[in-house]
Amino acid sequence: MNVPVKCDPREVLFVHSSLAIYHILCSVLMVAIFIATKRLVESFRRSYSKLTVVVIGGGPVGLTAVLVAALSKKVSNIILFEEMFRNNLCNKPSQIAFNPKTVKFLRTLDIDFDNLEGCWSNDYFYTRSGVYTDYLLCVLYKFNKKVDLKLGTKFTRDTIKEVDKVVGRKLVIACDGSNGNGARIMGLNDEFLQHSLNAYGAVAGVDRLVHGAVPVPETSVQNILFDLGAYGILVDERQEPQGFTVKLFGNLRHRYMNIAIPKCESTLLKSMRLVLDRSIPHTDVVSNLELLFTIIMRNIFIKCFNTYKSEVESSISESTALKTLKFSPRLFEIKLSQRLETVVYFKETDTFLIAEGEAARCTNFHTGKDINLAMDGLPILNRFITMITWASSEHSIMEAMLFKSRSAERICKSFLKNGLRDTVFSPS
Ligand SMILES: Cc1cc2nc3c(=O)[nH]c(=O)nc-3n(C[C@H](O)[C@H](O)[C@H](O)COP(=O)(O)OP(=O)(O)OC[C@H]3O[C@@H](n4cnc5c(N)ncnc54)[C@H](O)[C@@H]3O)c2cc1C
Repeated sequence: MNVPVKCDPREVLFVHSSLAIYHILCSVLMVAIFIATKRLVESFRRSYSKLTVVVIGGGPVGLTAVLVAALSKKVSNIILFEEMFRNNLCNKPSQIAFNPKTVKFLRTLDIDFDNLEGCWSNDYFYTRSGVYTDYLLCVLYKFNKKVDLKLGTKFTRDTIKEVDKVVGRKLVIACDGSNGNGARIMGLNDEFLQHSLNAYGAVAGVDRLVHGAVPVPETSVQNILFDLGAYGILVDERQEPQGFTVKLFGNLRHRYMNIAIPKCESTLLKSMRLVLDRSIPHTDVVSNLELLFTIIMRNIFIKCFNTYKSEVESSISESTALKTLKFSPRLFEIKLSQRLETVVYFKETDTFLIAEGEAARCTNFHTGKDINLAMDGLPILNRFITMITWASSEHSIMEAMLFKSRSAERICKSFLKNGLRDTVFSPS
């Protein structure tokens, strides 16, 4: 005989809800274990992922890039290709100037400014390219287990095979200056965008046989007008431009000067910019005009130098200038060249390629402080290295490349907006 089973509906509900909670908890636990395992595997993968960095060019930017890579835990080894030997590198006379932002960044790399020959002025640090290179090479020799400095070795098409043989993910950084072709032969688009900086300028340099190669602070003078009346160039006073900025920089042995002026349509500027039509026959009149223009520019530079030189240096005479002064014969338009493509990824060889320094962007005018533009790409290099070392999916690779190209774009945009105002036209 069947005994009717009585069940309390509340009990049934309790059992069902307990079962449901149990299932939910199990699912949550499974998901949590899955996520934790995935994270653990990912963190193992990340901590074991390593990158090989190849740097083309051992100028100030290339060597700083090597140092950033050497300090990164993500990088297992670094190879630098520099076509010059150490002696020539360390004797490079051109001045480099670091603005306060760059100084702060370089301090994070433990650059010891107290042990670097140079001078401070308004929180800017001025030194010679060779001095900075020498300092960095000494620092980098300490990383000899990780860094292979191939000085006196030109990077050519044949070197690419050597790079391709390296196992694992690679980052090639082209830092071979404004005339380098490393980025192009590796496969980066070689198109440059030219931006006018809405100003005209001219540069000059004088080399003298004095011993002091230690940089001296920059002299910058605003609103100077040149009287070219003696050459028959008369300026209509109503059209007078706002005046030139004159800068003297470098060291006592290699002195540089530049003059710059915002763009405007004045008789004075038109005369100083006049370029003779090469297609017209080279008559005596043309030759005389060319000679006159050259004399005008030389006299302007001699006068500027002698008026604004530092107290400790001697004036230059016309005869010395004839032998030692190199200068632009005419005013030219100041431009910024920006490499259109700054990052690319080659799947077959698992290689990222970027351009930095003057290989990525440069002006045709040395402002005395324009190294900052060349160095500006490096503060994000460490983060980019981390991103590409960890990137495993197509999405994360794209994300890293986007991060790099946006940063390159920002540098140029900011320079176009403030560059000359900060480095040339602002009273120091
Ligand atoms: C006359 C002059 C005056 C200047 N004055 C100032 C100034 O007052 N203030 C300032 O801030 N900046 C100044 N500059 C600019 C400053 O020197 C540059 O901004 C800086 O040198 C750029 O550094 P970089 O490393 O990008 O390029 P670079 O210094 O040009 O270095 C590129 C390196 O790559 C190497 N290289 C090229 N091709 C290859 C290859 N195929 N294989 C291997 N190696 C290769 C070259 O030998 C070189 O050592 C001046 C420059 C000049 C020329």
